[in-house]
Order: sequence, then C-alpha cells, then structure tokens
Amino acid sequence: MNSSFLQTPIDYLKGVGPNRATLLKKELGIHTYQDLLNLFPNRYLDRTQYYKIGRLQRTSSEVQIVGKIINIKTVEQKRGKRLVATFIDETGKMELVWFRGHKWIRENLKLNTPYVIFGKTNWFNGTFSMPHPEMELLETHEKSIRSAMQPVYPSTEKLTNSGITNRVVNGLMQQLFSETKNGFTESLSKPLLEQLKLLSKSEALFNVHFPKNQELLARAQYRLKFEELFYIQLQLIRKNLVHKSKIKGYPFTQIGDNFSTFYKEHLPFELTNAQKRVVKEIRNDLGSNAQMNRLLQGDVGSGKTIVALLAMLIALDNGFQACLMAPTEILSVQHYNGLLELCKELNTSISLLTGSTKASKRREIHKNLENGSLNILIGTHALLEDKVKFSNLGLAIIDEQHRFGVAQRSKLWHKNEYPPHVLVMTATPIPRTLAMSVYGDLDISVIDELPPGRKDIKTVHRFDSNRLKVFRFIRDEIAKGRQIYIVYPLIQESEALDYKDLMDGYESIVREFPPHGPGPNYQISIVHGQMKPADKEYEMNRFIKGETQIMVATTVIEVGVNVPNASVMIIESAERFGLSQLHQLRGRVGRGAEQSYCILMTSHKLSQDAKTRLETMVRTSDGFEIAEVDLKLRGPGDLMGTQQSGVLNLRIADIIKDSEILKIARSYAMQTLKADPNLASEENIPIKKTFAQLVKYRNIWNYIS
Ligand code: ADP
Ligand code: MG
Repeated sequence: MNSSFLQTPIDYLKGVGPNRATLLKKELGIHTYQDLLNLFPNRYLDRTQYYKIGRLQRTSSEVQIVGKIINIKTVEQKRGKRLVATFIDETGKMELVWFRGHKWIRENLKLNTPYVIFGKTNWFNGTFSMPHPEMELLETHEKSIRSAMQPVYPSTEKLTNSGITNRVVNGLMQQLFSETKNGFTESLSKPLLEQLKLLSKSEALFNVHFPKNQELLARAQYRLKFEELFYIQLQLIRKNLVHKSKIKGYPFTQIGDNFSTFYKEHLPFELTNAQKRVVKEIRNDLGSNAQMNRLLQGDVGSGKTIVALLAMLIALDNGFQACLMAPTEILSVQHYNGLLELCKELNTSISLLTGSTKASKRREIHKNLENGSLNILIGTHALLEDKVKFSNLGLAIIDEQHRFGVAQRSKLWHKNEYPPHVLVMTATPIPRTLAMSVYGDLDISVIDELPPGRKDIKTVHRFDSNRLKVFRFIRDEIAKGRQIYIVYPLIQESEALDYKDLMDGYESIVREFPPHGPGPNYQISIVHGQMKPADKEYEMNRFIKGETQIMVATTVIEVGVNVPNASVMIIESAERFGLSQLHQLRGRVGRGAEQSYCILMTSHKLSQDAKTRLETMVRTSDGFEIAEVDLKLRGPGDLMGTQQSGVLNLRIADIIKDSEILKIARSYAMQTLKADPNLASEENIPIKKTFAQLVKYRNIWNYIS
C-alpha cells in the first residue's frame, strides 16, 4: 500500500463519521490512516482464559466470565444513581455496576441470556463487583473471530464517554486493514531485515494489532521498535555528519605559548586520565576544519573547569577569544576568581560580565572585546546581549547548560561571521542510552573519574526523631571549624507551605544555634528564591567568606557553588527531592580535604520510591549509577533535554526498557550511513523513501526539535 494512500484523512474510513473524526483528532492526534495505524496498543489482554465467580480471588485483576443477569435495579446514593445488576454463573453471584449510561443499558441488556463479560473486579462487603464491564452476548462472542491477545489501545475519558471504546477502535483497525488489504510498503532494507531476522513491515503491523500468538507479537513489537529508533538515530547521525561536513569552524592548529607554558609549568595538579582523554578529544575537534559541538559530562567535582581552561588557552594560542558562560552570578564570579588564580602567571586578560557589572566597567569590556585586547570573557547570560561583540570569538563554553534554553545557546553562534566552537559542560549525568537519543547530534565526552585523594562523602539517612543527635553533630563539626548547609525543599518557590517550612526551620536553627548569649555563638545565612538577587548574593558571600557557619537555603544553592570548607550537607524532607537533585546537593560538600557528610532527614512515612531514592544515595556516589536509577524511577520525562528532544513522543519504543534495541538501532544507522551517506544504493531505496516520507509529513519532527 503506498504511503500517499495512508495519508488519507481519517474521515474517509468507513465507520468514522464527522463526530468521531473530530474526537479522534482532538483526543489522540489521529488525522490520517497512517496515524491510526501507528496507534499502538498499550498492552494486551489474554482472552483465552475464563474465570468462575466462585473461584475469583480478591487479587484477580481483569477477568473474563460467562454467565447471565438475573435482575437489574437502580440504587439511589448521595452522590447519584447507580445501576446494579446481579450476575450469576453455576458457581456463584456477583454485581455489575454502572454509573452512567443507565437508559441505554436498561433498554438493551437481556435478562437470563448468556453473556461474556470482561473487566476489573472489586471486592467489597463480601461480594465481587465489576464496574462498567465489557459485555458481549455469548452467541455473538463465539461467532466473532478475534485473536487471543486482545489489544488495549490508548484512550481518554472523553473518547470512552462518547462511545469510542476499545472495541470500536479495534473495529476501525479491522476496517483499515481490510481496506489496505494488509499490504504495506517495506520501510527497511533487505540486508537489515535479514541480518536482524526482522518481520516484514506488513507482518509486523498485522501482528501488533491482531497478534496471532505471543511469539509473533514479540517479534512484531521488536521490528517496530527497531524501526522507530533506527529512523530517529538516522536523523540524528545525519544531522551530525552534515554538520561536520558543512559547518566550518576555525581550525586551531597551533599549540602555542599559553597552552604549553600552562601545561608544563602551571598545572596545579596532574590531570586524571579521564581529563587527559577529554582534553585530547577536544584538541582533535578544535584542530579539524569542522565546528566543534561537544557535550562534556562530568560529575560534580570531576574537574571540568581545568579542561575548559585548557580549551580556552588553545583558542588564545590561535589568535581567538573565548568565553565561558555560567547560569548564575555566583557561579560566574567563582569561575572568574578561579581562572584568574590559575592564569596569574600567564599573559592573558580575563574579564567578568554579569548583570551587576557597573556601566563604566561594562563599556570598557565592550571596547576591549571589540578591539581584541580582551582574551577571555566570563559571565552570565549578560554575555548574550547585543552590545557584546567579540572581535573574533573562537570558543564558547557553557557551564551547566540545563539552565539555558536551546535558543539561548544558539544565539552565541551569531556573534561572529563563523560560529565559534561550542563546548557544553554539565554535571547532570545522563545515562548513555538517553544521551544517545537526546544529544545524538552532539559529540559526547565523559570525565568518569574523580581526582585522586577525594574522600567519599559519608551519607546517612536519619529520621526526624533523631534531630537532637544531628544538632549535636553539627555543633561538633562547627567546633572543628567546618561549615554546614541545611537545605529545605522549596519545590515550587511559590508554595506558601514550603516557604513556611523553611522559615520555621530557620527559626528553630537560630534557637538551637544562637548568635549571642552564653556558650558558643553562631552566624547563620539564609538564601531562598523569594529574596532579591542582591540580598541573596550578600548572604551567599558571607558564607563563602566563612563569616557564617550555617547556610539555611532552598535548592538555589544546587548548582556549582564551591565552598571547600563546608563539610556537612543536611537535606530536610529528603523524601521530597528527586534523586538527581539530592546528588547535586550532596556535591556541594566534599570539596575540601576534610571528611564530608551528607545527612538525609525524613519523616517515618516513606513511599517505596522515596525509600529507593534514599537507599541509592546512601549506597553510591556514582552519578551515572544514580542517573540510571533515577531514569528507572521517573522515566525520562523530568530529565534535562528530554522535553526538547521529544524522546517522550516515541510511539512504541520505550527509552528505558528498550535501551538494548536503541543501541542496535544506533549502530545499524551508523553503519548504513557510513557505507552509503546519501542512501543512494539500490538496497537502501526503502530507507531513503521512508526517510523522505518522514521528513515530508513531518512525523520525524515530533521527535527531533
Ligand atoms: P566540576 O567538574 O564540578 O566543575 P571543578 O572543575 O570545580 O569540578 O573541580 C573540583 C575541584 O577539584 C577543584 O578544586 C579543582 O581544583 C580540583 N581538581 C580538578 N582536577 C583535579 C586533578 N586532576 N587533581 C586534583 N584536583 C583536581
Ligand atoms: Mg563546575
């Protein structure tokens, strides 16, 4: 069946009138035959089994029973009417219940006639009941041909309420298959089908909607998942290849004074092997004629900054400028101070530009940027303002990019005639499989090794009832000269309740650690999202300078802040934080030479997921392992980048469960394009055509922004 036929509007399918068409479009996004075909079942019900009422278990979920209705009555309730029927078989009786559609049911249901019913059972007051059962006369049921595995399609309340039940969708699917005569154009190449022993497109589509048996269903799903992931990867890899061949970058061929002198004489420590490897990867990119577009992943404290500096020095050696952009003022300042210190023996000029840079200083920076005398500019998104004009920007580094929109990222490109090389650094570890889908068009470097001598952060879980012990511990640590973070959840900064928790917490901390009076005295900083930036800055700086011993804060301190003397991180209501957030917060300590601690405080009431999160934190500090668990718990929805990349819009594959298929699809997509970049060969015709269709009908843009 050719693909333009499949673009027929759904309105033309027999059984779909204007009303149904509107609903299908609105509720499920089904506009064409193709869309309906790609409505894949969420799950399948085993309809080969029949149950007896007398043998139902309270734990049974969905059951199919043969029996008859012996009476039917309306029951008045406070919350409205209910229709209740008594349903019996030879082993017992149960109730069928309807909350809606009473009139139709009363008029159409036959008493004392054998029915096959199907649905979920509830157990209440010694009786089983089934709300809104699926029902069919036994006589009809026996005549209809249906597969043993009955597909359950995605639906919405509106659809079911408007009578577009699963059965109706199933009927439409049958209609579609009879109109298409089950002939679908093959969309993968012969070699692929053979090497992977895949079902043909037609067999796969048929068996996913009308599975003949479990095995064919599994093979059908495999084939369709593979296809889906294969085309996404094909698109991403092609984008990357095209990018490399088309988007020229300034080749940085010189390794000159700045880099060499620094590397030989001023490196404050020996690089870890991971850092060396990554520097080499970056050097290779910078030395080629293509623009670098690289993501650098490295856990908190893995030492990304020095890598960034080395890359910037290469740019300088080749007569270019470099910039480093961070998401907050505090982080920019820290980077600035850190880099000034590292470069103090070099002959480089470095400036800082943020929202609070004074107008005169700002003008000076603008001028020096344009005349080229300024080498490195560090700052916040103030760097993106139109007035900021580099004379020759060669490298842009973006730290913690998840705080930046993609649009902002690309804005930097237009500062110059040619785009600068781009290095994006992130401390949020992304599991490889997800990174492949989200950032398939970026090259990825990973620092998977912490600098030597780093002491593991001791992480414990404590219940609120142990608070006094925790306070004692804090006191002891402060007595040793350490500083403490206490973090409260302020998940949505507007939530009044969270805010109250924070303030209550702050007051109790002040009571416990008084600023004056007999005994030791304490200074406490507080930082939260409702404060003015300047006040936040002030409080933050007091803590950084060591003037305060305790920092009470919300997650605003999450990213990047570096206070090596802080050795204890206490996270209040830790059960309310996500894993990656807990991990980021813990990364604020363990930055100095001292043993550091992370204490996760919770109440006794914990959900299963919360327990898993806490156990994971206590067990490991490996960011990638934590990210894997997080991905399993939450799905990809909340992870950075997934929104833009649309990996959530997958129709049949699942980014977590199908990561093996993803790897295979990626490697085959890579092979295919390597062997035949333009998909011009005879055997790749099906792939070329399918790809063109996907692009033409914009289906693929659902996946790739
Ligand atoms: P992040 O990857 O979180 O940005 P940083 O670059 O801030 O990490 O590095 C964290 C700390 O580790 C810094 O104090 C830095 O000086 C130090 N560091 C980085 N690399 C090494 C190394 N190879 N050996 C020893 N210390 C290092
Ligand atoms: Mg950093």
